[in-house]
Amino acid sequence: MWMPPICLVSEAAEFASRRHTGMARKGRGNEPYVNHLAEVANLLATVTGGRDAELVAAGWLHDTIEDTATTQEELAQKFSERVASLVAEVTDDMRLPKSARHQLQIVEAPGKSPDAKLIKIADKISNLRARIVPDPSQDERNDLAAYTIFAEKVVAGCRGVNAKLDAEFDEAVSAAKTAF
Ligand code: ZN
Repeated sequence: MWMPPICLVSEAAEFASRRHTGMARKGRGNEPYVNHLAEVANLLATVTGGRDAELVAAGWLHDTIEDTATTQEELAQKFSERVASLVAEVTDDMRLPKSARHQLQIVEAPGKSPDAKLIKIADKISNLRARIVPDPSQDERNDLAAYTIFAEKVVAGCRGVNAKLDAEFDEAVSAAKTAF
């Protein structure tokens, strides 16, 4: 169903906020999960100059299939086929253990569509930033170090679509590396 771009994005923001109600994210003070979604969507909007509402909507929705009772069909019906397939492209198979999911992310990254690559990089930027905390414990340092290595491997297969986003990622990695 066609919606004006601003309506598409605000509809996605509301839908994602409701679906992730009550969830907290890992890292920085257990922030509400919606902060992560807002950060990813805003990164995508900023680095693309606000030209692609469906991409920003997919940013809001990128964890709905993975983490909430939401299906690709539902997203296609409510938003668009493109939004739904972008979210599906960045969804891990949660039936697999974490180590296998991480390995698959690294292996499959180069074969993703250019827009899915942008969502992946924005997601990794947000996850890195959240793990940089003041006065980290040894566990937090280890987690940040491990996540940084993982994120660099995934993003190595996603680079080259948007120079601004690549630069934001490199900045997040530099900040992470001074923090572990
Ligand atoms: Zn995410």
